[in-house]
Amino acid sequence: MSAAPVPPAAAPPPPAPGVCAICEVPLGPNDRRCPECGLRQTLGPGRPNPFAGTVLWTLIGALAVLWVVVLLVVLAAR
Ligand SMILES: [Zn+2]
Repeated sequence: MSAAPVPPAAAPPPPAPGVCAICEVPLGPNDRRCPECGLRQTLGPGRPNPFAGTVLWTLIGALAVLWVVVLLVVLAAR
């Protein structure tokens, strides 16, 4: 019985996807687009979340503006 001397924490970060998610063409570590189909490689393990920070608040603001415009139209139609 030999316990492996592996520390329980500090798992290595998942590698960036090595192939395109659609056409499975091998990608370089700095390829942000697939050279074959042009898919942006922004999703997946090891990639930043595209819906965080400024983009998220821009979407929330756009929805709030749309809600106000619809509210004004509905109030004006009464
Ligand atoms: Zn591709």
